[in-house]
Amino acid sequence: MFATMIDPTDNGGIGVGFTDRLGGVSTGTTGQLNLGRSDIDEIDHLRQNMALVRRAARITRIAAVHQVHGIDVHLADGDGRDWSGDAWIGDGAPGKSRLPVADAIVSTTPGLALMIRVADCVPVIFADQERGVFAAAHAGRLGLLAGVLPATAQAMHEVGARQLSAWIGPHICGACYEVPEQMAHDAACQLPETRAHTSWGTPAIDLGAGAAAQLQRLGVEVHRVDPCTFTTDTLFSHRGDGPGAGRQIGLVWSAR
Ligand SMILES: [Zn+2]
Repeated sequence: MFATMIDPTDNGGIGVGFTDRLGGVSTGTTGQLNLGRSDIDEIDHLRQNMALVRRAARITRIAAVHQVHGIDVHLADGDGRDWSGDAWIGDGAPGKSRLPVADAIVSTTPGLALMIRVADCVPVIFADQERGVFAAAHAGRLGLLAGVLPATAQAMHEVGARQLSAWIGPHICGACYEVPEQMAHDAACQLPETRAHTSWGTPAIDLGAGAAAQLQRLGVEVHRVDPCTFTTDTLFSHRGDGPGAGRQIGLVWSAR
């Protein structure tokens, strides 16, 4: 169920999790633990899968956002409209989402969990354990280059965070993420650490190296727990599984 799970009792009260595709009830290309694709999976499977995650992590309320590869950060300390539990199900339809539009979520609310859905893009979890500020961000190529990670760190500082730690979760690695030469060049001009080549010698982008470099420049302590989604059978991959790929999540919660 979890590719990585850090218990809050071992991490200053903040739990961190990155799910894999095992241990759920979905079948086919979304099997088993699909936590995002309601267009090609049954709503009841999504509910059951999330219930299994909730039970394993001992969490109840989970906030989610409608992700658009941008840099807006949602502060989930407000009216709770994004905590309804299953508002994230069926989020795919443009303009119909009940969720706030953003690619990162920040909170200081004890007992709340935050989730980001991915299947090759980079999920990044942030925490300032001492101040009780935590966040989850979705950084694909566009969001990473546009600065969603610095924007998340800034939003955390605005609600009282001082020293940040970050966990970079599973995503497609630089040896697998082939892109057109011009796209690789443009990315490297903006963020040199993304420069990469695939294992078969073609231009590529290393999202994880770019994310780590951005965070380290901000003084964030970076932990990389990021096996490649493309080459790891137990992880969903948009590139690897095609248009029917399910979604895994990056999850963070305050147990206090
Ligand atoms: Zn790879």
